[in-house]
Amino acid sequence: MTPQPSATQALDTPLPTQPLTIMWTQTAVVVTTHLLAALALFPWFFSWTGVILAVIGHHLFGCFGMTLGYHRLLTHRGFTCPLWFERVLAILGTCCLQDSPARWVAVHRQHHQFSDEQPDPHSPLVTFLWGHMGWLFADNREHNRVTFLDRYARDLLQDPFYMTLERNRVWLLVYIAHAVPFFLAGLLVGWWNSNSWLTGAQFGASLLVWGVFLRTVAVWHFTWSVNSLGHLFGYRNYSTGDQSTNNWLVALLADGEGWHNNHHAEPRAAAHGHRWWEFDFTWAMIRLLEMIGLAKNVIRPQCWNRVEHDESSRHPKGSGVVPPTKLLDRRGARKAG
Ligand SMILES: [Zn+2]
Ligand SMILES: [Zn+2]
Repeated sequence: MTPQPSATQALDTPLPTQPLTIMWTQTAVVVTTHLLAALALFPWFFSWTGVILAVIGHHLFGCFGMTLGYHRLLTHRGFTCPLWFERVLAILGTCCLQDSPARWVAVHRQHHQFSDEQPDPHSPLVTFLWGHMGWLFADNREHNRVTFLDRYARDLLQDPFYMTLERNRVWLLVYIAHAVPFFLAGLLVGWWNSNSWLTGAQFGASLLVWGVFLRTVAVWHFTWSVNSLGHLFGYRNYSTGDQSTNNWLVALLADGEGWHNNHHAEPRAAAHGHRWWEFDFTWAMIRLLEMIGLAKNVIRPQCWNRVEHDESSRHPKGSGVVPPTKLLDRRGARKAG
C-alpha cells in the first residue's frame, strides 16, 4: 500500500507538468484581467452602479454559473433540471472565465479522484501558490490530450452544445460577448443623462471594470481558495483520504463551497453544509429551485438521513454512510487508521 503523505509532506507537481513549461497566453490573460480589475482603484472608474453589478454578478455568475452550475450540477450531478436551464447555468459559468464546462468538469473530477496525490492537478501540498493559481500557468500535457476529456467529461461532450463551446474556444467568445453589453449599456445611459459621450464612456467603463473585470477576478480567487485554503486550513468532519477542510471564510466567500471536507466525503450531495450552522448559499438556491420545480432528484447528504433514522429508531443500521466522525482538528489525521 502506498503510504499516505502527511499534511507536512510536500507533493511534487503533477508528472505531466514536468519539465515545467509556462503557458504564456493563459498567463497573459490572467495577469491582464488582474490589471484591468485593478483599475477599480482609480476614482475615474468608480460608480455605485458598478459596485452593485459586481455584487449581483458575484452571485449570478459565481453562484449560479460556477458553484451551482459547473460544480454541483455538471461535475457531480447533485440534482437534475431541464436541459434548457442546465445550458443557461453553463453559459453563466463560462462568463466567469474559468475554462469551458467540459474542461473544468474534467479537471475537477480528476481532482476528486486523486485528491492531494499524484496527479492531482492543483493540490496545495505542492505549495500554497501552486494549489491556488500556479497550476493554471503550467502546461499539463495530460490535459491537452483528447483522451483526458474523453475519460472525465464524455457525458458532457456527447451533447453538441458543450462540444460547440469547446471547439475553437467558443466559450471564450461567450465571455467576451457578455462583457460588451456592460460597457454599451453604461455608455448609452451615461450619454442619455449627461448628453456627453465622455461621461457615457466613463460610466460604461465603470460598469465594465466593476461588473466584469473585478467580479471575474474576485470569483477566481474565491474558487481558487477552495483549492488552496480548503485543503490546508480549517476543521474536518470526515476522515477523507485527502487534506480537505471545512473553512468558514471560504464558505462565506464562495457561496458554501468552503465546506470542502464535507464535499470530499460526499461529492454527489448537492448540499455542502452538513451541520446546521454550516451555511451554504448555493444549497439555499438549490432548495429554492427545487421548490419552484426547476431542480429535481436533489441528492442530500447521507448523514442527514442518518440523523432522521437515529431519531426514529435509535438503532441506526450500517448503510455505507461515512459517519460524521469526531471533529478532527485542523490538519488532523489524513486517514483514520
Ligand atoms: Zn478538493
Ligand atoms: Zn467537487
